[in-house]
Amino acid sequence: MTSRLTQEQLELREAVRELARERIAPRAAEIDQNAVFPRDVVELFARHDVFALIYPTEYGGLGGTLLTNCLMIEEVSQVCATSGLILAVQALGSLPLLLAGSEEQKQRWIPGLASGALLDAFALTEAGAGSDPAGIRTRAVREGDGWRIDGTKRFISQGSEADLIAVFAVTDPEAGRHRDLSCFYVERGMPGFSVARLEHKMGIRGSPTAELVFDGVRVPDANRVGEAGEGFRIAMRTLNRSRPAVAAQAVGIAQGATDAAVAYARQRVQFGKPIGELQMVQAMLADMATRTEAARQLLYEACERIEADAPDAARWAAMCKLFAGDTAMAVTTDAVQVLGGYGYISEYPVERMMRDAKITQLYEGTQQIQRLVIARALIAAQ
Ligand SMILES: Cc1cc2nc3c(=O)[nH]c(=O)nc-3n(C[C@H](O)[C@H](O)[C@H](O)COP(=O)(O)OP(=O)(O)OC[C@H]3O[C@@H](n4cnc5c(N)ncnc54)[C@H](O)[C@@H]3O)c2cc1C
Repeated sequence: MTSRLTQEQLELREAVRELARERIAPRAAEIDQNAVFPRDVVELFARHDVFALIYPTEYGGLGGTLLTNCLMIEEVSQVCATSGLILAVQALGSLPLLLAGSEEQKQRWIPGLASGALLDAFALTEAGAGSDPAGIRTRAVREGDGWRIDGTKRFISQGSEADLIAVFAVTDPEAGRHRDLSCFYVERGMPGFSVARLEHKMGIRGSPTAELVFDGVRVPDANRVGEAGEGFRIAMRTLNRSRPAVAAQAVGIAQGATDAAVAYARQRVQFGKPIGELQMVQAMLADMATRTEAARQLLYEACERIEADAPDAARWAAMCKLFAGDTAMAVTTDAVQVLGGYGYISEYPVERMMRDAKITQLYEGTQQIQRLVIARALIAAQ
C-alpha cells in the first residue's frame, strides 16, 4: 500500500493523521450538527503549514505534489469530510492562479493562500449551468482599464468565507462554445459583491455552500487570469487536478466508515458471539476494505499520471473520481448496515459518513459526466 509513497510523504501523512485524530475527530459530529464553518480547523491547518503543502516554494509554499495533497485530504476526510473539503477547496480555488496566473498575480496572492491568511473559492456553477458550462450567464464587460461583472453563481463551496474567488464569466458571447469564457479573481469586499444565501444540506454540513451575487463588480484587468477567452480551458485543466481531490475525500470517507464498522463488529455481541464472527457480516467488511483499497490505488496512480502531464490526464481524473465516489457511497451504506439500527442514529459516525459520501458522486461533475469524459477519451483515442 505504501510502496509508491516517498519517506517524506509517509512522514507528512503520519503528522496529519495525528492532527486529524487528536484535534479534528472530536469536533466532527458537532461541525455536522451545527453546520457552522470550522474556523478553528482553518487555524489548525494554517498553524501546522498544511495549506502550504501544495504551493511552490518560491511563493512561500512547501512544493508538494498532487499526490501529497490528496494524501492529506484523505487523512482528514477519514474523520471529518467537511474539514477535508477545506483543503480540497483551497486547492481548487488556487488552481486557475497556479495554472494560468502571471508572475505578479502569484507573488500577490500565493503567500497569503499558503499561510492560510487567505481562503479562496471556485465559482463556475450557476442555476442554469451545472453539468453544462455553456449555460453560464454571468457577464464580464470591458469598462475603462478593467471589467464590470454581473451575474449570480450557485452552490459555491466556501464562497461566503473566501477572500479570493475565481469567477468564470462570459466575455465574448459571439466567440462560441469553449471560447467565450474568461476567469477573474474577485476579492472579498469589492463593491457589488454579496452572499445572497447559504444552502441547507444533507452532508458536508460545516462547509458553507453559497449563492454569490455580482452586481456591477468592478475588477481591474490585473485580476484576470490567463487570456480573455481562455476561461473554459482553465476550468477544465483545473478539474483535471481537482477531481482527484474529491476522490481523496471519498477514499477517506470510505476508510473511516470501514474502520468504524470493523471496530463495531468486534465488540457487538448477538447470538452469543461478536457479529464480526458471522459470515454475512464478514463478507460486507471484506468488500468494504477491498473496494476502498482499489479506489485508493486508482487515485494514487491517477495523481502520478496527472502530475506527469499525461495526455489522457482528464480520463484518469474522471476515472478516480468516479470509482472513489461510488466506493464511498457503497461502503458507507454497508457500514450503516453492519451497525444495524445503531448505524442509523447520530451516536455513531457512520450515518454522517453516508450523508457526506453522497456529495462525492455529485460535485466537480456528476458520475454521469465522469463517464462521458472517460468514454469520449476512449473513443477519441481509437
Ligand atoms: C454541496 C455542493 C458544493 C458545490 N461546490 C461547488 C463549487 O465550489 N464550485 C462550483 O462551481 N460548483 C460547485 N457545485 C456545483 C456542482 O458541481 C454541480 O451541482 C454539479 O456539477 C451538477 O450540476 P447540477 O447540479 O446543475 O446538475 P445538472 O447538470 O442539472 O444534472 C442533473 C442530472 O442530469 C445528469 N446529466 C446532466 N447532463 C448530462 C449528460 N450530458 N449526460 C448524462 N447525464 C447528464 C446529471 O448527471 C444529473 O444526474 C457544488 C454543488 C454542491 C451540491
